[in-house]
Amino acid sequence: MNRTDPPAPLGPPPPQHKRLSRSARGTGSTGGAAAGIRPEQVFTGIPVSAGVSIGPVFGTTEAPAEITKTKILAADIAAESARLDAAILQSRKQLTKLRARLTVLPEESQAEIAPLIDAYIQMIGPSRLVRGARRRVTETLLSAESAVMAETEAIAEIILQQAAAAHAGDERSSLQRRAEEVREIGRRLVRNLTRAPFRSFAGLPEGAVLVAEALRPADAALLDPSRLAGVATEEGGADGHTAVMLRALGVPAVLGVTGLVQAIRPGDIAVVDGITGTIVLNPSATTLTAARRAVTAFARERQRFSRLRRLPAETLDGEPVELQANLEIPIELPLIAQAGAVGIGLFRSEFLFMNRETVPDEAAQFEAYRGVVEAMSGDPVTIRVLDWGGEKDIEALQSEGVVPEAADHNPALGMRGIRLLLRHPELFESQLAAILRAAVLGPTRVLLPMVTRVSEVRAAREIYERVVRRLRRRGERVPDPLPPLGIMIETPGSALSADALALEADFFAIGTNDLAMYTLAVDRTDAEVAPLYDPLHPAVLRLVQFATEAALRVRKPVSVCGEMAANPRMLPLFLGLGLRSFSVTAAAVPRVKQAVRAANIGDCIRFARRVMEQSDPTLIQDLLLGHMP
Ligand code: PEP
Ligand code: MG
Repeated sequence: MNRTDPPAPLGPPPPQHKRLSRSARGTGSTGGAAAGIRPEQVFTGIPVSAGVSIGPVFGTTEAPAEITKTKILAADIAAESARLDAAILQSRKQLTKLRARLTVLPEESQAEIAPLIDAYIQMIGPSRLVRGARRRVTETLLSAESAVMAETEAIAEIILQQAAAAHAGDERSSLQRRAEEVREIGRRLVRNLTRAPFRSFAGLPEGAVLVAEALRPADAALLDPSRLAGVATEEGGADGHTAVMLRALGVPAVLGVTGLVQAIRPGDIAVVDGITGTIVLNPSATTLTAARRAVTAFARERQRFSRLRRLPAETLDGEPVELQANLEIPIELPLIAQAGAVGIGLFRSEFLFMNRETVPDEAAQFEAYRGVVEAMSGDPVTIRVLDWGGEKDIEALQSEGVVPEAADHNPALGMRGIRLLLRHPELFESQLAAILRAAVLGPTRVLLPMVTRVSEVRAAREIYERVVRRLRRRGERVPDPLPPLGIMIETPGSALSADALALEADFFAIGTNDLAMYTLAVDRTDAEVAPLYDPLHPAVLRLVQFATEAALRVRKPVSVCGEMAANPRMLPLFLGLGLRSFSVTAAAVPRVKQAVRAANIGDCIRFARRVMEQSDPTLIQDLLLGHMP
């Protein structure tokens, strides 16, 4: 359980846009007994919030709300409707109180939890849920609690059907969370109707590990993270709201730990390991010593990272480095500032098009871009226009006939990225118009995906300028000068024609994920060939070098936004090649910043020369791991 950092692996990282939802459930096993007390028991579950903690166990249970009355008489309709209204009012008061209480939480936690409480409050406003429940009381003579249950179930079912049809894992998770929100507000109403008591955290001792069968997301607003050591529950998964809330509170947590509630006894001690997903009940002396070391190591790392957040990304010899975050789904927005990133270097706009039957229009897209640009408060945002193709399946494009239902050919080599947008200018134009309007609100850049030819950049720029003229005619404000129009370098074709492309594009973003895939002809999601996916292959590194030098020669900005940049061990090489701008997943920003602050440009240049002389990937790996003198 020692958390001293192992060397960062240099092999293929898991694809960032394929978040796997863990479904493994917890299992309990009994280990060595500590002298005189209950034997150590190890449980495993789903780690949802990083950190290690030790504390006395505090178990809380909540009796389910029993619905005893299902039908009413016609004569009771008015009284039953009044009961329903009273429960709605009471629920609203509870939630408003919870909302006000959030101000005691750290700012980042508030930013995460407040929108959820607001969503609950909205659901019991003049909503479909409330109208539907009222109708069920008056028209089908259901009791208020049965009406609420029936209506929330019906709404949740519709949302879950949409979730089942969603192609992308992120979209599916977000719809599943929405269905859970509806069910949760239903349970609150029923609890208030049946006067079933809510879970109480009164008496939670300082530094305790909270154990429950389940926690509702709103409970997070009742927890004081500074007094709580950790959380373990039997239900819940990595993608749910409760997990998001616990992460926002920064409390080590493991969910989905089967058998834990049954196992705990008064006086038990637990170790919560929110990194590996283990709970050790009544740890042996050896486990306890290891856990204490892990607690200290994690606390030190967190402290180091929070200090880093405020420090500039600057090398030892004073060279500033731009360190930005990649944004894939809006839920990651608060993490960007927390991580100490300055702006968004790659906003993958695909999520806007997913999980819907129709393509979002200019107005809907404008709202989304505006939200992101405003949230960055003056820090730059690079918005990549729709990158459909390859493994990225978007149903709305299929149902509107923009792309075929099933690709006949190899989709990685087909109609994708900029090719698709140039084939469907109406799609491209509405996205560009939305971005240009949002760009008035903060520094923005536009990024074109999967470019392979100079003519594509020229054609895209013509459309871009046409959209600007059209917006001006419409009386819309457009930024002056226009947002820079850059390109992804993510194919060998674009990397090798980077000198010509650098004359046409305003900036380069090197996407090493696809660049490595296309260079090595390896799909890293195919287990058979995944071991051959090696971004350290000299061919990939030479393409990165060639493209970087081409941009620098004509003084065009160039950054790396693929997963490779998130590995701090790559940084000396990248700095040595002349790169000064990186965009990585928010969670990786602190470790990359740490590497920047430990680097010296002169050393990096010498190091890069040595690496680029090698043609053997294993030797390159050894050099990067510091195994070679
Ligand atoms: C890349 O290919 O490296 C990249 C950043 O784009 P995406 O991962 O979205 O394909
Ligand atoms: Mg790509």
